Parts: sequence; structure tokens; C-alpha cells
Amino acid sequence: MILDQFRLDGKTALVTGAGRGLGQGYAIALAEAGADVALLDRTGCPQTAEAVTALGRRAHQIVCDLSTASPQDLADVTADASTTLGGLDILVNNAGIIRRQPALEFSEANWDDVLQINLTSVVFLSQAAARLMAAAGHGKIVNIASMLSFQGGINVISYAAAKSAVAGVTRSLANEWAPLGINVNAIAPGYFATDNTAPLRADASRDAAILDRIPAGRWGTAADLQGAIVYLSSAASDYMHGSIVAVDGGWLAR
Ligand code: NAP
Repeated sequence: MILDQFRLDGKTALVTGAGRGLGQGYAIALAEAGADVALLDRTGCPQTAEAVTALGRRAHQIVCDLSTASPQDLADVTADASTTLGGLDILVNNAGIIRRQPALEFSEANWDDVLQINLTSVVFLSQAAARLMAAAGHGKIVNIASMLSFQGGINVISYAAAKSAVAGVTRSLANEWAPLGINVNAIAPGYFATDNTAPLRADASRDAAILDRIPAGRWGTAADLQGAIVYLSSAASDYMHGSIVAVDGGWLAR
């Protein structure tokens, strides 16, 4: 039956940036669909772990700073998740930061930090996960892209560069890993009300300009992304490879 294809019973997932914001919503959605979940961020994810456990699923907290993690550190992370939960079926590369500064003044640190967390760690965590998934013969990798995978934005050159590259990396990895039974896709969220966008919402003119362009007429919430993450993590999306799925209240359609 079609709804059974969306179920994640017996599956195991690793979600980065799972302590708050959209990552917390992804982790809870995967647990609601039946998965056990490893939760990664810099300081632990106690609230998310509590929510996952309350659903009757296992939660495993992994503390890792993606700004300094080496490829070997990331391989250790996937091994930890896999050993503790009994395999690794799903990776959600969600952790991300944004630095806002006019391009004329943009600092090297604001370039390097964003590229490291939003792009380099995505590539090498995917590589580590895919080595495990290839051995198992199946896996799902979901990267988190952005409207700035398609557009340039304002005062965010490193973020636009990283998120545009995430879309390219998603397509490249999908081409190489589809024959191994691994689906690599991305979700491109529109404008969502989290800490990441708090400065935009606090700026009345930016807030009004953004809302004016969203056909749905409101900022998104973590719940608006939960259907997409379960779909791209489940058998229901087995024939999807290299797609960048916008969940944006219609932003790109304008
Ligand atoms: P958020 O509320 O700022 O949360 C970011 C998460 O990433 C936190 O859990 C954070 O952990 C983690 N993180 C940041 N730096 C890290 C590091 N060095 N090592 C490990 N974890 C780190 O952001 P969000 O709005 O939920 O965004 C989540 C993802 O969606 C990001 O990739 C973002 O670019 C993308 N996105 C967001 C929007 C939006 O409108 N909000 C739109 C498009 C795309 P700590 O708590 O330890 O800092």
C-alpha cells in the first residue's frame, strides 16, 4: 500500500544540526515515521532526544563541531551512529550557518566558516555515510539547500556560494551513487522562522518585502518541511536522484 512506502520502521538516521530549528523538526518527523535517530550538533540535543524518545524511538546524541571536523572525524561520526543504532540508512545534512556582510567588506573568516560548515562538511559526511550505505546496498542522503541555491541574495556571498554548491554536489553525488542504491536529493526551504532568519524578521522593511513575495503569505515553520523529509528518506522516493525540492510557499514561482 502506498502509505506503507513512507514508513521508516526499523530504519536509522543521522541528522546534523538537530538541536533546534529545522533540524529538530526533521529528526522528530523521521522518528514519527518510525526511525531511530542520531542527533548531531556542537553541544548535544537534549530537547530533541527527549522528543524522539517520547515517540518510542531511540535517540543517540553526538557532539561534533563541524567547523573543525576532519574527514576522519566525520567518518568516526558515521561509525558511531551506525554502531550505536545498528546501521545507517538515512543522512540529513542540515547543520548550517549564515554570515551577513556587504560583499565589499566581506571577510575571509565569514567566507571560510560558511564554506566549511555548509559545504565541506556536507561533502565529507556524505562520503563517510555513502561508504557504509554502499556496503549495505541502499541509503538515503538528503542535503539541505536553500533559495540561495537558485538566487544570489543580499549580503550573503559565502552562503549563496555554499548553497549553490550544495545543489551541484547533490546532483554529482546522485550520478555516482544511484548505481550503488543510494538516493541523494536536497530540500530547498524558502523563508522559515528560525534563529537563522531572526535578523531578517526583525528588520521591518525586509520582513515586509519577503512576505510580500511569498504567495502563501507567511513564513514557513519546521512542520512545513516534515512531509518532504519523510518522503525523501523513504522508499516512496526510490526513483528520485539529484532533485532539489523547493518547499517555499511559492517563492520561486513568483
Ligand atoms: P538554526 O536554527 O540556526 O540551526 C542551525 C543548526 O545547525 C543548529 O542545530 C546548530 O547547532 C547547527 N550548527 C551550526 N553550526 C554548527 C557546527 N559548527 N557544528 C555542528 N552543528 C552546527 O538554522 P535553521 O534555520 O534551522 O537552518 C537549518 C538548515 O536549513 C541550514 O543549513 C540552513 O542554511 C538551512 N535553511 C534555512 C532556511 C530558513 O529560512 N531558516 C532557509 C533555507 C535553508 P548549535 O545549536 O550547536 O549552534
